[in-house]
Amino acid sequence: MPKTQAQRIVLATHNAGKVRELAESLTGFGVEVLGLAEACPDLAEIEETGTTFEENALIKARCVAGIAGLVSVADDSGLEVDALGGAPGVYSARYADDWPGLPGESRDQRNIRKLLHVLADVPEGKRSCRFVSCMAAVRPDGVEMTVRGLWEGRLLMAPRGENGFGYDPLFFDPVIGRAAAELSREEKNARSHRGNAVRALLARWREFMRP
Ligand code: IMP
Repeated sequence: MPKTQAQRIVLATHNAGKVRELAESLTGFGVEVLGLAEACPDLAEIEETGTTFEENALIKARCVAGIAGLVSVADDSGLEVDALGGAPGVYSARYADDWPGLPGESRDQRNIRKLLHVLADVPEGKRSCRFVSCMAAVRPDGVEMTVRGLWEGRLLMAPRGENGFGYDPLFFDPVIGRAAAELSREEKNARSHRGNAVRALLARWREFMRP
C-alpha cells in the first residue's frame, strides 16, 4: 500500500527501540512510524506533569500531534505496589532520585535498592504489584483514545535475572514462575503491560483512524 501523509504517525519518544517495536506491531495497518528525532527534531523534553499514566501519555501525544500535524502515539508506564498504595506509579523512573547513589550505581539499580529497603518487612503474601502501561493516540483534528495494559506480579526479596530494564529483576510473574528479567524480549512482550497495551491499541486502531 503506498504511504500517504495521513498514514504517517509519530511515536512521542526518542527511544529508537520503542519506535521499531511499534512499527513492527503496526505492519499490515499501512502505517509508517516516525520517532521524535525525525518528526520534531527541535522539540525539548516534554514535562510529564500528570498524576496518572493516562494524563502523562495524553500530554505527550497532544503536544507532538500539535507540532508535527500528524497522528501521534505516546506511552507512559510504571510500577504500582499495593503495599505502598500504588507507589511509585507515575514516579517510577524517579523513585529514588531523593536517595544518595552509590559509586557506579545506575538509576535503575538505585530504584531497586530503595524499593527493597522500603519493603524489607513486607512478607511474600503482601508483595503484590503490577506494571501498568498506558498508550494515548491523538489525531491532529483532536480525536483521542487511551488504552491500558497491565501485568500482575509479585515483588521478589532479591533481584533475579539479567535481562530487561528498570524493575524487571524484582518483578515475579506467578503464572509462568519467572522474573521479568529472566525472560527473552519475545517472552516478555507476550506477557507484559506494554505488549498488552499495544495489543489493545491495535484492536481499536482502524476505528480510531476512521475519518
Ligand atoms: P517510561 O514510561 O518509559 O517513562 O517508564 C517509567 C519507568 O517505569 C521506567 O523508568 C521503569 O522504572 C519503570 N518501568 C516501566 N516499564 C517497565 C518494564 O517493562 N520493566 C521494568 N520497569 C519498567
